Amino acid sequence: MPDYVPTIGLEIHVQLATATKMFCGCALSFGDPANVHCCPTCLGLPGALPVTNAQAIEYAIAIGLALGCEIAPVSQFHRKNYFYPDNPKAYQISQYDVPIAAHGRLGDVRIHRAHVEEDAAKLIHAGAGSGRIHDARRSIVDFNRAGTPLVEIVTEPDVHSPEQAREWLTLLRETIRALGVSDVDMSQGSLRCDANVSVAPTGATALGTKTELKNMNSFAFLERGVRAEIARQIARLEAGETITQETLHYDVATGELRSLRSKEEAHDYRYFPEPDLPLLRVSADQVAAVRAALPELPADKALRLSATYGLAPERAHELAFNGPLGTFFEAAVAAADGVDPVAIANWLPALIERVGSDIDPAATPVTPAAFAALVGLVGTKTISRDAGRTVLDRLVSDGGEPAAIVAAEGLGAIAAADGELDAVVAAAIAADPDAAAKVAAGNAKAMGPLVGYVMRETRGRADGAEVGRLIRAQLGL
Ligand code: ADP
Ligand code: ZN
Ligand code: MG
Repeated sequence: MPDYVPTIGLEIHVQLATATKMFCGCALSFGDPANVHCCPTCLGLPGALPVTNAQAIEYAIAIGLALGCEIAPVSQFHRKNYFYPDNPKAYQISQYDVPIAAHGRLGDVRIHRAHVEEDAAKLIHAGAGSGRIHDARRSIVDFNRAGTPLVEIVTEPDVHSPEQAREWLTLLRETIRALGVSDVDMSQGSLRCDANVSVAPTGATALGTKTELKNMNSFAFLERGVRAEIARQIARLEAGETITQETLHYDVATGELRSLRSKEEAHDYRYFPEPDLPLLRVSADQVAAVRAALPELPADKALRLSATYGLAPERAHELAFNGPLGTFFEAAVAAADGVDPVAIANWLPALIERVGSDIDPAATPVTPAAFAALVGLVGTKTISRDAGRTVLDRLVSDGGEPAAIVAAEGLGAIAAADGELDAVVAAAIAADPDAAAKVAAGNAKAMGPLVGYVMRETRGRADGAEVGRLIRAQLGL
């Protein structure tokens, strides 16, 4: 049985968060009543003329640059002709042979191109149960979304596993999020992704025939859909069958892949230059200005965090890919006096556990300075780790200063020297002679109940290692 290499190329639609639509002045706004943001242009009424949204072009340039693309000094809009109820003009204004950005790379995936286009209206399938006999087949159209600016990003077929697809899409999403040009929220449709999938026998020089999985609405579903499609293709080839080039829908509930249509060709769309728009000219000055204003991108940030603070690559990656968390971390490091940045990073999961991973510094009462101070108290063994978690609970619920909380609640570590701990350890041994005998006989696991007793009695204020040392000492080990 030959082994197969999967190949995946991704096509991503990013909805731009501009104030107005791509070719008219209607507001971009979500959640409003249907059909309140439309005008003759985005409704496709005869005689209405499009005007290119300069902010959308600036955002597209930013995306192109962040993806390492060349920005075309002159590109062009085309009409992509097709009939569908969500497309009032019966054509979509898109870019065809000359996109605004091309030939880039993000991480280990080459970018084929990125172009600007307009979104379609939203079809709402009314479904059954709304009263009339034919309702089940009725759909309504909300034109608020018609004409929303989109950037479509097309990768080269450089991805070779479902996991890599998911990881790379995360990098793409966080990169675009850092630019601040889109909400990049898959569940809201501001980031949409299609995956082209093929398999070929290991060592083959040509790629296999591809199929296209449409519009997966989460990275997890995309990963599962791609995995299912790879398995389906391999099974077909193993059975001596061929792969048909087609568009598929992955049903998350059943795990089934359903054919939507066989592949249309570009000439079916009868692309032709948009006669109502001038060529899209982007000056070198404008590209330079957008480049100068680019924020630090996640991949660069991960490298910097790891180099500057000595963080492990995975930890640096995690912080770089979560903007608010990374900002919180750097603010804590800046506020801390001599507290180890690695220790601060290592305490972040405990904070995330309590407030969620989308830390909003404005919404949590834990200030970066208080967080750093807490980590410092644990680092100097002023308080135990357990007590540190208690202090963190207080910070999350009430805010305040760690040192004051420690004093008010008597959470300071019990020093080995002051004898208090000796008495508690003796009591633990007396309370569980069985466990003590096992420890004395060399069974290290039996230490657990004894340490547990001490921790309960001291409300977690003792240092675990210190307690272990004292137990062994009292047992004469
Ligand atoms: P089409 O003409 O069918 O639209 P393109 O060559 O424009 O195909 O590629 C569309 C997308 O499919 C790109 O992301 C590309 O990387 C990907 N792709 C092309 N060929 C393959 C293949 N054999 N296997 C997987 N992905 C592919
Ligand atoms: Zn409009
Ligand atoms: Mg194509």
